[in-house]
Amino acid sequence: MLQSSLRLGTVAGIRIGVHYTWFIIFFLISFSLYTFFRQQHDDWSANLALATAVITSLLFFASIILHELGHSIVAIARGIRVASITLFIFGGVAQTEKDSDCAATEFWVAIAGPLVSFFLAGMFYVLGILIGSYSEAVAESLAWLASINLMVAIFNLIPGFPLDGGRVFRAVIWGLSGNATKGMNWAVISGRVVAYALMALGLVVVLQTGMLLNGVWLAAIGWFLLAAAEASGQKFLLDRVFDRVLARQVMERDVPMIAASLSMTDWIDHYVLTSGQRAFLVEDGQRVTGLVTLSDISKITREQWPTTPVRDVMTPVEKLHVVTPADSITEVFKFMRAHSLNQVPVVDGGTIIGWIDRDRLLKILRLHTETGR
Ligand SMILES: [Zn+2]
Repeated sequence: MLQSSLRLGTVAGIRIGVHYTWFIIFFLISFSLYTFFRQQHDDWSANLALATAVITSLLFFASIILHELGHSIVAIARGIRVASITLFIFGGVAQTEKDSDCAATEFWVAIAGPLVSFFLAGMFYVLGILIGSYSEAVAESLAWLASINLMVAIFNLIPGFPLDGGRVFRAVIWGLSGNATKGMNWAVISGRVVAYALMALGLVVVLQTGMLLNGVWLAAIGWFLLAAAEASGQKFLLDRVFDRVLARQVMERDVPMIAASLSMTDWIDHYVLTSGQRAFLVEDGQRVTGLVTLSDISKITREQWPTTPVRDVMTPVEKLHVVTPADSITEVFKFMRAHSLNQVPVVDGGTIIGWIDRDRLLKILRLHTETGR
């Protein structure tokens, strides 16, 4: 998400950028501020209204970056690297390299952003008192910045994940129950409730007030939050399942085995086509000497099948890519992807003790998703 962004600079090792969708919201906010200023102050020139609108809008987005920096600096202090902060159509997002590893971290990282926004609201308010009397435009700009930052803080504290308030909610459940999965499950539910509520509210706004843009905007934010909540929930589950489950737990122990002297014809006709298995271990005497898979048949012509033993086309054990029983599924998946394998033998002390294939992994993964465990 948000890969293609325009780079603005780097702060504390964090890349700051804007996604191209940001220009839409920047234009919308500048334009509505301009219209507002023109309506409120008919003595202002068009240029004054425009300059005030654009500068105010830029200061607003600077405030959003500071909000995200608030999250980021706490994250970094707690050992989570932050790669980038990106402004986009729905606000700002800080991209961290990993999820919080404890409830306290999740809590402090989440709360830091709204605290920054509250602080900015107060700062703009005080500045308005101090220097507002010099210029009406400055006073208007500071007043708007104070109230918008207050709204950003309050909106983000709505307890619907992945809003900051939802992350606080997740941290509280996680902290109280001591169970990260429980925290995330409840967080996703909170996210759904708030997302649907925003969509419904958007519809009400359109029907009741006729303010089409505002209504569609609320609904779009709801839709975005829903997608983000579901995606975070799934990623969380996958990461946990993948790291927790070991190769030995999911491997197939019943490894299909054939004799090295078996001809290719017999192997295909009596083993592959009757079992549906694509890969077999090859046994020579008492030892497993290799692996033969359907993709090996391209090594010889069809005419050679009856006279070629599987030992001539198999991949010998020394050349096999294998995993160990203690490898996590994360590692197994990475390994399979790196070597473009569909199946991988599990080897313990030089002996093949099991077998993992991609279909089996995906099936098991689906079961984890279905049962939420
Ligand atoms: Zn935030």
